[in-house]
Amino acid sequence: MENGVKKIKIAVNGGIGFGAKLNARQLLMISKYMNEDEELELTTFQQLYLEIPEDKKEEIIEELQSVGLVCYPVGNFVKSLRTCNFCKGEEEEGMPVAKELNRRIAGIAVPFTLKVAYTGCPIGCGEPMLSDIGVMKIRDHYNLYVGGKAKGKDAEVGSLIMENLTPEELYDTVEKIIAVYSQMGKKREAFYKFIKRIGKDQLISSL
Ligand code: SF4
Repeated sequence: MENGVKKIKIAVNGGIGFGAKLNARQLLMISKYMNEDEELELTTFQQLYLEIPEDKKEEIIEELQSVGLVCYPVGNFVKSLRTCNFCKGEEEEGMPVAKELNRRIAGIAVPFTLKVAYTGCPIGCGEPMLSDIGVMKIRDHYNLYVGGKAKGKDAEVGSLIMENLTPEELYDTVEKIIAVYSQMGKKREAFYKFIKRIGKDQLISSL
């Protein structure tokens, strides 16, 4: 609360492209909503957290979007897709598919923050194996991993649950996994714990 105005946090980034970049116009627009002594938080998930007055949320988001920024909710939602840098080219590495997947799932409410990563080839710079849900493009199709855990002494790589998916099959399967987690996950139950509790076989048979 500042001068009686309630502030809310939103997550902002430049959308999916060649690397996590922001241009000068976007930086100027972000700074318009910051006081000189305020700080901007850069998360490990290629998002910036910005605090804005709640009563002006809609108009500020519209203004941020007018310079190509993309805004997402903060909290227990599907995060924006973490991607690799698409170094081998937009089409070859499936950037349109990554954008469409992000459009469909980012911001969906879930029991606990859900991280989804996309990588354009098996080199795996987007670290899909260490994310809750990971997508790896291999030639013209997509492999899907679940249950990766990047943090802690018990960090684990995810398990491959589906191979050779078309883009439509990929969107559909990821949306269904998120729906199952939303329906069957306990409040604040992390995705990797959820997968351990219900088992991968049960997850696959629920899709
Ligand atoms: S995963 Fe492949 S396409 Fe993506 S940045 Fe790494 S090497 Fe390039």
